[in-house]
Amino acid sequence: MKRILDWLLPNLCLWCLQPLASTEIQICAHCNAQLPRLSLQQDQLGQCQIASNLADFQLDGLLSVSWYQLPWSRWIVQWKFHRDLAAAQALLHQFKIACQFWRQLGLSADAVAYVPMQRWRRWWRGFNQAEQLAQVAAETLQLPLWHGLQSTQRWHQVGRSGRLRRQHQRRFMLQTEQVPRHLLLIDDVITTGSTCNQLAQLLKAAGCDTIIVLTLAITPHPSMPARPDI
Ligand SMILES: [Zn+2]
Repeated sequence: MKRILDWLLPNLCLWCLQPLASTEIQICAHCNAQLPRLSLQQDQLGQCQIASNLADFQLDGLLSVSWYQLPWSRWIVQWKFHRDLAAAQALLHQFKIACQFWRQLGLSADAVAYVPMQRWRRWWRGFNQAEQLAQVAAETLQLPLWHGLQSTQRWHQVGRSGRLRRQHQRRFMLQTEQVPRHLLLIDDVITTGSTCNQLAQLLKAAGCDTIIVLTLAITPHPSMPARPDI
């Protein structure tokens, strides 16, 4: 029965659409070798101007699988906004491979945290992609997953400008007074770095010492030479 289904509905590579030999993988070996990637051992904080654009900068490192560019950007959108399971599997698998590499390099911490999502959005989407990536990181790096960060933003605040929002309410809060000293903080995409930096300010004020961000993709700064296709 499974063979008939495989024949009727072959599993296709997400990128080149050629049939795949296994249902376990979503990207063929050829495309996997061609995927644009960043150097996993290079701290990207100095590369992407995030540090120089934010006041009270508190992040200690930034490691990313890729720039936010094709085909990663398309798969991330398919995962987040269309609940595409194949895209989700492919991205979680790629993140796991990156975490295995970071583990070999000796990357460690006391725990793995993730950027929390507003409750209504988490309910609407059914999952928080940053939390799913953090689960993969925690398992692969053999660290505890820490659920100490919470979003305080309500749905009626979403349309307001950033300045108005900050005037009305802080975006995040801690669920506990005890924070791990060394944290890995996970988000799916880093755009300005402002969200992670706000969380880092909160965590460091509560006693956290180091925060290294791990992500799938970083949005290239507009001034970057040879900006990749998004
Ligand atoms: Zn392919």
